This record gives sequence, C-alpha cells and structure tokens, in this order.
Amino acid sequence: MVSARAQYSIIHHYAANTCSTSVKLSSTMSKHVALGFDIGGTNTKIGLVNAAGEIKDFRRFLTNATGNDPSTFLQTLVETIREVLDHAQGEVVGIGMSLHGYADDARTGPILCFNTPALHGVNLRALMEENFDLPVSVNNDLTAHALAEYYYGSGRGIRRFLCLAIGTGLGAGVIINGEPLRYVGGCAGDTGHIILEPGGPACSSGCKGCAEALCGVEGIERLAHEQYERDITAYEVIAAARKGDDPIAGEVMRQIGFYLGQTLASLSVIYLPNRIALTGGTAEAGPVLLEACQQRFDELVGGYHRSFARMGGDYYAGTEIVLGQTRGETGVLGAAVELLLPYREVTE
Ligand SMILES: [Zn+2]
Repeated sequence: MVSARAQYSIIHHYAANTCSTSVKLSSTMSKHVALGFDIGGTNTKIGLVNAAGEIKDFRRFLTNATGNDPSTFLQTLVETIREVLDHAQGEVVGIGMSLHGYADDARTGPILCFNTPALHGVNLRALMEENFDLPVSVNNDLTAHALAEYYYGSGRGIRRFLCLAIGTGLGAGVIINGEPLRYVGGCAGDTGHIILEPGGPACSSGCKGCAEALCGVEGIERLAHEQYERDITAYEVIAAARKGDDPIAGEVMRQIGFYLGQTLASLSVIYLPNRIALTGGTAEAGPVLLEACQQRFDELVGGYHRSFARMGGDYYAGTEIVLGQTRGETGVLGAAVELLLPYREVTE
C-alpha cells in the first residue's frame, strides 16, 4: 500500500499525454466542496476539494496509530475535520476518506493496515456519521489514487484504466468504465507484492523479491547506496534523475523503471488495461523512468499486446503507459472524488 512520505513530493507538471478533456466549474456548481482526508502510514492529510479538483484549507498531522489505542488519533482527526468544516466556504456535500491498508467490503474502515495497527477494525464511517451529518465515502488508498487520476488526470474516458502508485510502497488501482475494481480489501488486490526476483530482498510484509521490495523507497535507496557508495535518500535520487545531470541517479532510476516494466507486464496480462499511468513520488523522476519501464514492458509483453490488438478489433486497441497528471495531494483529492461526481462539468 502506498503512503508517500511528507517530503516525497515534487510539485512539477509534465505534458504527460495529449488528453484534451478538461474539468471546469460552472457558475452554479462552484460552491460545492467535499472534505477529503487521507490516512497514510506516516501522515494524515485533510483538505476541502471543489468539483474542479482544487484543494483548499489543507492540514497535515502525524498518523499516531501504531499502538493498540486509536483514541488520541481519532480525537485529533475529528477535531481537525470540525475545524476545517467550521471555516468551509461553499456547500459541503460529504466527507471522503482514503485509507492506508485494506478496507472492509462494507466500506466502513480499515481491516488490515501494517503501519497503523491501532486502526484495525475501526468503523470510521460510523465515527464520521456520528460527528457530522454528512454523506461519507470510504476507499482504500490505491483506489482513491486511481479515482483521482481517472477523473482529474490521465485516465479520463479510458475504458479499463490501471494506475500504478509508486512511493514508500507501490500498488495498482483499476477503474473500469468509471467504477473502481474492488476485488479484495477495497482494491484490485495487493498488486505490489508480485514476485519479480525469487530470492531477492524482502519487503516489510514478508515477501521475498517482490515489486515493492525492489521499487519502493527502500529498494531505490538500496540500489543508490551500492552505486554512490554512500547513503542517499530516494528523494534526492529522484530529483537528480529528473534534472538529468547526474548519470548515477539516471542509472538507478532506469533500473527501477526496468523493474516497473516487469511489474506492469504481469499486471497488464491480468487486467488488460487500455492505459496505464505511473503516479506517486517516484514517478516524479519523469521520462527516464517511463522510457526504461516502457522498454522492459515491450520486451516482455509487447508482442502479446500487439497480437491481442490485431485479433481484438474494436474490443482492444493495445495499451499505453503514461506519467500521471495529478500532482500534490492525490490521496486527498481521490478521497473526495465520488462525492463530487454529481457536481463536475466536463468539457471536451
Ligand atoms: Zn512484498
């Protein structure tokens, strides 16, 4: 599951693809906002999101939920939400949440969350409903990221869309005709733990050689340590690779791109997406990452997708890999998306 570190986000924009659809506010709809909050393994983030996807009144505090008792964290959460709602301008249409870890099938709260064990089984939906008289939306964080990117980024109008979020951990959200695939735990599966290198390094969940162990922050820092022969943070490597003047950083991120291409090769033959987006802090490395990913993907399954597209006619025209377009607090945006859908106005 993804819980990007606080410092792990660089606010820049790529012209990631040629999507021309835009979301704008009509004069009658601009007043609607939803409160979105994103409980990550490290930080919890809160903001008011309008129907154009803009975030206002942003707050952040530490997710203090590592023990058995969630009461302090829940109190801070409710108080912060109340504070934001008290000052909200416009009509608040609901409260949406994005959860680190698996969500239960009834969408009431987290049922499996390694970094926030105090929240296991807590009915956050009931907590919100008891404290605030508003509709509530609950999503796993991978699904929230995919929803944000589908409705406000590179996934717009795509029939089967796969969004790979890459940060501290990694995993995919899948959207089919605008609806998230909630196969298990409120998402498409724990896709970050598919095995790339049997016998490779272990991840924090206990797999050996999985995508998360190789491409998550620890994987990047392990590779970087070998190449630089000193400690260096993933954030520094990603920023240097993006800038393009550090050949070692470029090489590290090409290796990560290679692994990501392998990850997507396996996921693509299961979900057959029409488009794949790379999002999260690590995707900020930009074209060097995308090119290495695309190259490895083509080597492994390019022929498969071309054959399928030839046979598939109108059903399947192949897949493409792009860099995501949403930046900044994607989890907060994704938490609010479902509540804002009736208030969006999309123009071509
Ligand atoms: Zn793993």
